[in-house]
Amino acid sequence: MLRATRCNLALVASLLVALAGCADSSPEAPGRLIVDDVAMADETSGENWLAFGRTSSELRFSPLTQINDANVAELSPDWVLELPEDRGLASTPLVVEGVMYFIGSMNRVRAVDATSGALIWEYDPQVRDYVERLRVGWDHSRGIAYWNDKVYVATWDGRLNAVDAATGRELWSVHTIEPGLAMYITGAPKVFKGKVLIGNGGTENGPNRGYVTAYDAETGEQAWRFWIVPGNPADGFENDAMAMAAETWTGEWWRHGGGGNAWHGFTYDAELDQLYIGTGNGSPWNRKIRSPDGGDNLFLCSIVALDPDTGEYIWHYQTVPGDTWDYNSNMDIVLTDLEIDGRERQVMLHAPKNGFFYVIDRATGEVLSAEKFVETTWASSIDLETGRPVEVPGSRYEDGIAMVTPSPLGGHNWHAMSFNPEAGLAFYPAIHLNRSWDDSGIDLETFQAEQWTGGTGVGGGLGGASPREDGLLSSLQAWDPVRKEIAWEVPLPGLYNPGTVTTAGNLVFQGRIDGSFVAYRADTGEELWTTDLGLGITAPPITYSVDGRQYVALLVGWGGVMAGLGGALQASYGWSYGVHTRMLVAFSLEGGASLPVQPDPVVPVPIEDDFEVDAEMATAGAAFFGQRCNLCHGPGSVSGGLAPDLRASRIISSLERFASVVRDGRRADDGMPAYRDITFDELVSLQHYIRDRAEAGLAAGGGGG
Ligand code: CA
Repeated sequence: MLRATRCNLALVASLLVALAGCADSSPEAPGRLIVDDVAMADETSGENWLAFGRTSSELRFSPLTQINDANVAELSPDWVLELPEDRGLASTPLVVEGVMYFIGSMNRVRAVDATSGALIWEYDPQVRDYVERLRVGWDHSRGIAYWNDKVYVATWDGRLNAVDAATGRELWSVHTIEPGLAMYITGAPKVFKGKVLIGNGGTENGPNRGYVTAYDAETGEQAWRFWIVPGNPADGFENDAMAMAAETWTGEWWRHGGGGNAWHGFTYDAELDQLYIGTGNGSPWNRKIRSPDGGDNLFLCSIVALDPDTGEYIWHYQTVPGDTWDYNSNMDIVLTDLEIDGRERQVMLHAPKNGFFYVIDRATGEVLSAEKFVETTWASSIDLETGRPVEVPGSRYEDGIAMVTPSPLGGHNWHAMSFNPEAGLAFYPAIHLNRSWDDSGIDLETFQAEQWTGGTGVGGGLGGASPREDGLLSSLQAWDPVRKEIAWEVPLPGLYNPGTVTTAGNLVFQGRIDGSFVAYRADTGEELWTTDLGLGITAPPITYSVDGRQYVALLVGWGGVMAGLGGALQASYGWSYGVHTRMLVAFSLEGGASLPVQPDPVVPVPIEDDFEVDAEMATAGAAFFGQRCNLCHGPGSVSGGLAPDLRASRIISSLERFASVVRDGRRADDGMPAYRDITFDELVSLQHYIRDRAEAGLAAGGGGG
């Protein structure tokens, strides 16, 4: 049963007997750890970082104490791997027996020596050969998985690939998304009991119906699939859970797909042998359209407990019945035990978009507490008797218009939450933002999901303001799940800061979008150490140990959806496209490496030329830009550094050169896809729109917007 070659002190008491005698036996080659459920459940061995949340509990808590609150000020760079071909870097690296594995731009995976950064192998899944649309996500992967000498790589285009951990050779590859569906993968696969699980995103991209699929980790053969929302009843339901869910939908919901896509937040509970899936929001967002006579719309915005062997439904808890605000529940599901009201409970911690911090009994799904962690106006409280929110009348934009907090970015998004059992606190970046909703101009009966393009009304727009008196948009919060309150809070810059790691050394580490990397005392929030990495950070850190030396490492590469969509706000940091060095950095107490010298932040200056903008063409170009370009290049072509700020591009002025990039794919290797179906008129209208924005930027006094 126990196949680890190292002596792991497994949590499971019954295994301790089996472990006796492990200390002096080393039957297999050194430097090899068979990762299985035992290794994944072992919270006591801090050498490795085996999964997105380190172990299957997703605590992101390390028992390592070499670096601690007394000496963290001495932390310095131990090694640096520069990554000149990467752009946005959002992922959590893994460390297994001295080898670090990480996924970067274009879903390329590299294995490096975790003590030096020296490259061991590189695996390129060639995503650009597979993607016909939705190309924005080439840099958005949040991580990979490891199991029995294999690395699992989910690609943006929907493949799940297994790679030999020793060589980087591809062992198998399966398509997890049916051809033609506008879905994608940004999440890390999760492995448990010899199976590898993956979901998908795409709720916002048309009539999609979310699901998760488990595959045999050795062969890639499909083991089971769980659909998150019911399909057309005329086609029959896949299982009893879908028949039950269908009772909570109205109208012809299946025409819109329903959504619910699970793109993050999968946790395997080794103690209870259950799998928890955090599910997504409805498609389209507005319930009046997808389920016109109301209904809870199961299993949107829920945690669903499944049998890990069969994918069969066990229980669910829905955080937002009848979602109509994009309040998905895809955020981390963190497992721990807490003493609540004098009783030891096996719980999960969950801080979804809807603004309430949940403590849920993971055996039954019973909500033990749910309190607001950010300003939250859609509901006044969660009724613990029923588990249902007490909604505030008007917030459902019943009459067409409402101002609601949190915004669709959520009170907390995907950015990793960690929990320190010793301090008893959970750490996550909170977002303080409201948003106005307005569907008054929309024909709800004829609305087609395809019309949703991040545009108006029931759809996108991330505008809004902080609802706080201090105007703060983001903060690092420490939540006490027993006292049900914020223990401490630290202001953060901007809007969309990365996730955390916490350690038994009484520390919390977090990068920031302003380029600083900071260590705090876990129990008090006191800032103990900070360093400037010279480029905005999107990825969460990890910590691990090799040959007795503890390291703290993270990827440094400004990116992610807000780098583009945030436009002017994010651009104000000056992380202009391609200017600053992307890198993987490891720190230790004995580090002697130096960081690359980064240029100062720069704000692109729109170019001036004698191009004459035609206002009508520019208007047509604006619509096209909003549909096809702004996710990367930013609203108004004010990029926040994810892609070039097109106002400063000389290519635009020449229609010939512009066509060679946009239509012919001349910059495909840099991540700019070829839009071969673009018409000449569309290309010209785009040119006029971008030049119009450049002139507006110049008139406004240069860059930044
Ligand atoms: Ca969503």
